[in-house]
Amino acid sequence: MSLLLTGIGLLATQDQSAAQHPGEIADAALLIAGETIGWLGPAAQAPAADDAIDLGGRCVLPGFVDSHAHLVFAGDRSQEFAARMTGRPYTAGGIRSTVAATRAASEDQLRANLTRLAAELHAAGVTTFECKSGYGLDVDTEQRSVAIAAEQTPEVTFLGAHVVPAGIDRDDYLDLVCGPMLAACAPHARWVDAFCEQGAFDVDESRAVLEAGIAAGLRPRLHANQLTAGGGVALAVELDAASADHCTHLSAADIDALAGSDTVATLLPLVEFSTRSPYPDARGLLDAGAEVALATDCNPGSGFSTSMPLAIALAVREMRMSPAEAVYAATAGGARALRRNDIGRLAVGLRADLTVLDAPGYLHLAYRPGVPLVHRVWQSGREIPLGPAIPG
Ligand SMILES: [Zn+2]
Repeated sequence: MSLLLTGIGLLATQDQSAAQHPGEIADAALLIAGETIGWLGPAAQAPAADDAIDLGGRCVLPGFVDSHAHLVFAGDRSQEFAARMTGRPYTAGGIRSTVAATRAASEDQLRANLTRLAAELHAAGVTTFECKSGYGLDVDTEQRSVAIAAEQTPEVTFLGAHVVPAGIDRDDYLDLVCGPMLAACAPHARWVDAFCEQGAFDVDESRAVLEAGIAAGLRPRLHANQLTAGGGVALAVELDAASADHCTHLSAADIDALAGSDTVATLLPLVEFSTRSPYPDARGLLDAGAEVALATDCNPGSGFSTSMPLAIALAVREMRMSPAEAVYAATAGGARALRRNDIGRLAVGLRADLTVLDAPGYLHLAYRPGVPLVHRVWQSGREIPLGPAIPG
């Protein structure tokens, strides 16, 4: 079966290799052939198809790629958020309250919570999301977390090194993470991550965790330089991590290191928004030639939002990214941060992951902040019904 989408007011492919650089086609059409894109171009040249849908002049983008999210957990930290808004700073320690709730939750509860958040992500135009463990912090709950995540996405990350949980010696916990916990989680995961930060794990501890993960067949990514300008970014580059995430506090050497590497700087402005923190230096990164991704970091503590459109609006308003740079970072940049070539762009042969905006162009994502502009979503050639989230 083939489906021709016509009436595309603006097709923003994010395909920088396209002849019509920067990959924007007005009055376009796109052919979905099975799970992939069979053709795209000016509507006047569109081929015949089994079926057709007129999108009425709307804008079509690649589905957003959310390359950083923590979605397997239980509990609620809205009181912590409220306290923070009246002056209490964010620290890494609040994670432990989510750990207690997650350990106490049933597998069905954790699965239902993840399903609800996945539906929210789809409604926000996301067609690929990464999902981390890290709220179990014992072998059983971490294993359960990655297994549940793997039911919904191939981009599963083992984050046993989130914080040291209460009631265990620090060195004993690191031995557990690098030994039995990794062995239990690696079969369900593609990535290994650590929270390299004051109050969590230092550079040497993070290196030990990532190297153990690499030895177990996982690929590295790293929470780096969120709260302080430590050595996380340098470590991520040293290990050829796919992504250094947060990058809120960067030295000039960090920016140079990222620009000279294949490690993507993944920026998470919803966290700065929700923790009332300074935003990362996106301009410095982009102007130096570093690859930048935008992701939600959806998590119950430091930023509980699934809204890639709001992340884009913040990147434009607060971080001085152009709307085109922000949309690229939320699609092709996210794909780079997951080392994926089949998503994040629209081109013949790539996966038919599409987000249709109820707007004539992508500028509206920043121009109309907070307005639900996602109109329809296709994932691997199938339209995802966008209903209200299932009650949790
Ligand atoms: Zn995170």
